[in-house]
Order: sequence, then C-alpha cells, then structure tokens
Amino acid sequence: MSNPYLLLTPGPLSTTPTVKEAMQKDWCTWDQEYKAIVEQIRQQLLEVGCASKDHYTAVFMQGSGTFGVEATLGSVIPSDGKLLVLINGAYGKRMEDIARVLCIPHLSLEFKPNEPVDPLVVERKLIEEPSITHVAMVHCETTTGILNPLEAVMDAIKRNRRLAIIDAMSSFGGIPIAVEELQIDFVISSANKCIQGVPGFSFILCKRDELMKCKGRARSLSLDLYDQWETMEKDSGKWRFTSPTHVVHAFKQALKELAEEGGVEARHERYRTNQQIVVDGMTQAGFEAYLPKELQSPLITTFLYPTHIPFTFEHFYNFLKLAGYVIYPGKLTDINVFRIGNMGDVHAEDMERLIEHTLRFVGESNDEN
Ligand SMILES: *Cc1c(COP(=O)(O)O)cnc(C)c1O
Repeated sequence: MSNPYLLLTPGPLSTTPTVKEAMQKDWCTWDQEYKAIVEQIRQQLLEVGCASKDHYTAVFMQGSGTFGVEATLGSVIPSDGKLLVLINGAYGKRMEDIARVLCIPHLSLEFKPNEPVDPLVVERKLIEEPSITHVAMVHCETTTGILNPLEAVMDAIKRNRRLAIIDAMSSFGGIPIAVEELQIDFVISSANKCIQGVPGFSFILCKRDELMKCKGRARSLSLDLYDQWETMEKDSGKWRFTSPTHVVHAFKQALKELAEEGGVEARHERYRTNQQIVVDGMTQAGFEAYLPKELQSPLITTFLYPTHIPFTFEHFYNFLKLAGYVIYPGKLTDINVFRIGNMGDVHAEDMERLIEHTLRFVGESNDEN
C-alpha cells in the first residue's frame, strides 16, 4: 500500500508505514493495557518538552489542534482575568476569535505577517495594562512559516509576572522547546504535526500549579482541560468520553520513531536540511521566498507567485500532484503566495526530487511561452 503523494503541507503530514500499521487493531478505551499506553505517552511528551513530572503534566483533548487551543483558552483564563493575544498570522487571529466567541476579556497586539512578535512591544503593553493576566502567542506561525522569538517573549512575560499560553502546534517535536526552563505555563500541540502521528487529538503540557487553579473555570463541558486531566490522573490514563484509540496507538509508534531518529534535535536537523534544499532549489528555479532566512522556521516556507513564467497555483499544484507531491495554497489576503511544507516523513531525497520536478515545470512553462 503506497500513498498517491507526499504531503508537503502544514498538516496532516506524511507518516511512516509503521505508524499507519499501528492502527490495524481495535482497542478498548478503559482496558488496563490501553490506559497504560496513554500514561506512557503522557510521560514521553513531558520528556520531549524537557519538563519534569513534578512541575508539569500532559493532558490530551479529542479533536484537531484548534480544539486544544480552545480548551486551553476556555479553561485557563478566569472570568476576571484578561488575555493578551499576540498576532502575526491566521493562527494568532484564531486565538482572538476563540476569545471573542467564548467572551473571554481580551486585548490584541497585531504585527505584520512578515514581522516577528516584538518582545519590547509586548513588555510595554504588559506594563501599560496591569489588568492583563495571560498572554497567548503562536510559536511558529504556520500561515507564513515565521518563527516568533519564544525565549525573548517568555522573558518579557515572566519578568512581568503573567501566565503564558503557547500554541506550539507546528513546532513541538520539530524544534527543541525547553518548556520548564522557559517557564511556559501551557503549551499546545497536536498528534499530526512534528511528532508525525495521525490527526485525532491535541495535547497540552500544563504547569501543575496553574492547572490546579482551573477547576470549574471552563466555558465548555467537553473542552474542560481540568476535568479531562482529573479523569486521566485519577483513573490513570482514562479519557473522559470516547478516545481516539487508533490514533493513540499510531502516536505511541510515532513517539518511538522520534526517539529512534535521535529525538527532537535530530528531527530538527532533518527538517532544516529539507527546508534548505527547498529554498535553494526554488530560488534556482526563479522563485522567491516571502520571508528572509533569519525569520524563517525550518518547517514550512511561503513563496511568492513567480513573474518569470506564466503561473497559476492550480497548474503548478496539479503538475506536482501528478509527480507525487501535494503543496499548499497561501493564506495571506493581500499577496499571492503558496506554501511548501517539509515536516513529516519526508527526507532530503524527496525534496531534491521535488526541485527536479519544479525545474521541469519552469522549463515547460518557458517552452510554452
Ligand atoms: C495546525 C495548526 C493549528 C491547528 O489547526 P487544526 O486544523 O485545528 O489542527 C493551530 N495552530 C498552528 C500554529 C498550526 O500550525
């Protein structure tokens, strides 16, 4: 069974055959063996985030990544608190949307999509607005691939004694994040990003003391982070409500493969190499990256529509799809761009072949001209 194409997208991503194979059996959700697996992967996630069991705990939430973000924002901020949302792309904007829909008191600081969040501006805002209790930021804004300066922003947040909620959806497992050292209070990611599992749940690493304060705060029954944690903790590994059993097994296998690859550092290195091949090759083919190198994450790259050849995204997309690659449309409103992801079970050879096909595409487009 081989796939018709490789996914070069922001997720879900291409997974290994062994991760897919792990889903071939049916499992009982409250069986001891199954719950032991849940407990094992909760522990492993803490290790991936360099967080100790004494101070941190991992909670799962059914659904895609957004469900994890919504569960966290909805469960963590008290009714008399105030959230500051840092925005430089669609996923930051989504956190603001969640705050609005859930009637969470909030303020926003918006930066341009090609501009990283500025820790000095954040610090000034925190000093100006003592009512802010929590700050939410996306680590890698998958909208463009821009990497926000997590360490410096955490520094500003902690110096000003606020709580931090980090959407590390597209970076956790692919970029080293020292959750405990940085004192991040809540970190959110999901099964189908850099850990390279399949879609079906999100997970949240929570600072224990802070999570303990969240009992009864949730604005939703099913997305109650504290309640989910309490059940998992008391009934060692049980989820409230049906858990995605196949996805959990695939995730267990994915974590094993992450360790076999050499952990987050090694995966980070592979993704960086992938991204370098893509950017160098696309540049050679006459494409221009939207972001300068120093702002770019190693996960996904945004490219401008080229002007040296007749170009439509649909034409390029279909050409590459026939060649075995699926790329992604852009997500910027004022400028024509597309994205090429390089996370997942994709390797240097795959990226090199992608570039060969792209060069062929450019050549053929020139011939037609
Ligand atoms: C993928 C992603 C999400 C979650 O998206 P879902 O479609 O709900 O899985 C959130 N934030 C970022 C930065 C992401 O890359």
